[in-house]
Amino acid sequence: QSFTEVDLGESLNRNIQLAHYNKPTPIQKHAIPIVLSGRDLMACAQTGSGKTAAFLFPVICALDKAGLGRGSHGLERAGYKVRLYPSALILAPTRELAIQIFDEATKFSYHTGLKVAVVYGGTKVNEQMMSLRRNGVDLMVATPGRLHDLLERDYVSVSQVRYLILDEADRMLDMGFEPQIRAIVQESQMPPPTVRRTMMFSATFPHEIQRLASEFLLNYLFVVV
Ligand code: AMP
Repeated sequence: QSFTEVDLGESLNRNIQLAHYNKPTPIQKHAIPIVLSGRDLMACAQTGSGKTAAFLFPVICALDKAGLGRGSHGLERAGYKVRLYPSALILAPTRELAIQIFDEATKFSYHTGLKVAVVYGGTKVNEQMMSLRRNGVDLMVATPGRLHDLLERDYVSVSQVRYLILDEADRMLDMGFEPQIRAIVQESQMPPPTVRRTMMFSATFPHEIQRLASEFLLNYLFVVV
């Protein structure tokens, strides 16, 4: 009955059935149990491999089981000042990919109560912040440039991040996002690798990606599909 050998929880299992995902893809079969067991992951996987669900399912499962869908959705108000505290943060290279991940995260977190949001550049910061201010956020999908901007403005804090995912890490480096990624991941408030769980996905595994993996991940497992 369950998607993998591991229990993903009632809501997520139902959403998986509704989406007609009958059988896990190879990356899902290997990655989901690794993350649920509490280990960090470096995965070499291409677009089309089902990598999005491979990182979303264990994160949605963990946040749901932690009861975050019934919480305050990482929203702190102090007078006019509002600051967001996402529990899960997914970095993606482009607006298109960020929106795809957001759509999938929204679909699979149905009925969990978890708040999912996406932020990207090329639109007005304040317009994007308006809906976030109303709803709060548990799981945030972001492009590195825009998130870095939101952190500088103190609209978002990474201090509550328990799950950090870098999707298409090689493409983010190709696009010149390394300084922003470092500023986000090595920000003083970001919980250290011992406290958060971290996953990196990349189509290729060149030196620069190996170096980032050794800095950002803790005692990680390496999966190639
Ligand atoms: P991705 O590699 O994450 O971009 O996923 C590629 C496509 O495969 C997407 O359209 C997913 O909705 C679909 N997909 C992912 N996992 C499964 C699965 N286990 N069963 C059926 N379709 C899937």
